[in-house]
Order: sequence, then C-alpha cells, then structure tokens
Amino acid sequence: SRRILIAGNWKMNMRAASAASLAKGIVDAVGKNSPVEVVLCPPAAYLHTVSEATAGTSVEVGGQNLYPADDGAFTGELNAAMLTDVGCRYVILGHSERRQLMGETDACVSKKLHAAMAGNLVPIVCVGETLEQREAEETEAVIEKQIRGSLEGLDEVRAAGIVIAYEPVWAIGTGKTASKEQAEAVHAFIRGLLADMFSPGVAEQIRIQYGGSVKPGNAAELLAEPNIDGALVGGASLKVEYFAGIIAAA
Ligand code: 13P
Repeated sequence: SRRILIAGNWKMNMRAASAASLAKGIVDAVGKNSPVEVVLCPPAAYLHTVSEATAGTSVEVGGQNLYPADDGAFTGELNAAMLTDVGCRYVILGHSERRQLMGETDACVSKKLHAAMAGNLVPIVCVGETLEQREAEETEAVIEKQIRGSLEGLDEVRAAGIVIAYEPVWAIGTGKTASKEQAEAVHAFIRGLLADMFSPGVAEQIRIQYGGSVKPGNAAELLAEPNIDGALVGGASLKVEYFAGIIAAA
C-alpha cells in the first residue's frame, strides 16, 4: 500500500514572512501522526525559511528544480547537494511550466533525475499532455514518450523510490480539473507502463500524484481512485485553509 503524498508547489509566489507563516500554518494543521505525507516546495529563495519553520515536524520540504552538476561555474543554478543542505528531501522535476517556458526536454529531465537520486533526493517527475494533444487522442503516446525519456537509464531498484506527477497541462491553473475517470485512466496507463519498463512489483510501489486545479472540493474523489496516490497542488497550496482541506480529504 502506497502512502498518500500531498505536495504543495508554491511556484514563484510568497515572500519570507508569508512563506514562514504558511509553513507554520500547515505544520499546525498536519499535526503529529499524519497518515498522509506532506511536502512543501517553496521558491529556492525561501527553502531555508520553510525548512526552519518545519524543522522537527512531519512536514517535509522540496525544491522546484535543480541543476545536474557538482559545484562549479553554473551561474544562477543550484544542485542536489545544496537542496539537501537546506533541508530538502524531494525535488520537482520537469514541471510543464519549465518544459514550456525554459525548454526542458525529457533528456534534460533524465539528467536531473539521476543527479537528484545520486544526491539522495526523491524526484517528483512531472508529465502531462496539452489540450491539443488530448483532443487529437495522443494522450497515452505523449505520456509514454515523456516517461520513457525522463526515466531513461533508471534501474529497477532506484525506480521504486521515485514519484510521478500526472499533470494535464490543460488542467493547470485553469480551474478545469480532470474528472476522476479521466485522471484514473491515465494513472492506470502510467502504472502499466512502469510495470512494463521495470516490473509489476516496482510499478506497485511507485506513487503517482495527480496535479491540475486540485481543491478541497475535488481532492477526496480523485484520491479515492485506486491509482491516484496523492496530489501536486499549485494555487490551492498557497492558503493554509485550502491546502489543509486537501490534506484532510486524503
Ligand atoms: P494548480 O493547482 O494551480 O492548477 O497547479 C498545478 C500544478 O502545476 C502543480 O505543480
């Protein structure tokens, strides 16, 4: 049985003071013996702030990106060692915004995945189709290409420890959530693909999160689906009340 993983992707939002109070609010809402695993992914500038606010609690911290190299001449970047040093256990990789705005490719995501794992970070690998691709009935082909490319070179032992986030691009920040049937169908497809790439046993261990307009009102029905093991939450992770509502629904 896979433990539900609810992650908040704060994207490029918050300031130091609001980041600290949001993190503290989530810590209070989650409490001590949460059955659900909770991760906060603030902007890099506030990782330290959020790590301090969550220190000694069950709430974990994640980065939103990393650069796949050891220390060196890479102006503006940060690596896995820096993320762990500042308290991260997770890192989001290949988010659709980075794929679209920063031109990240599957090959690039795969390099980052290996750097994350070598640095003891749990990667949350994001995949998802655009509306145009869904309408052209290319969803499964697109997802398969993204997953095979992004997980290139990953062995079975390490594969069991990763997290996949299925985030249909048309559902991100649009208020249009995939229906539970639409989401479950893709999650089941992904699990089958992982069984094919690794083994059925490994596929059973990999958590697959759904992301895209997750709110307190739709979280319960999505998370009740057999292959939906958590949520990667954007907008609704910026308010204690909404994010706590999603956690409570899990
Ligand atoms: P929203 O929850 O704002 O739709 O964002 C989803 C997302 O991109 C999380 O990574």
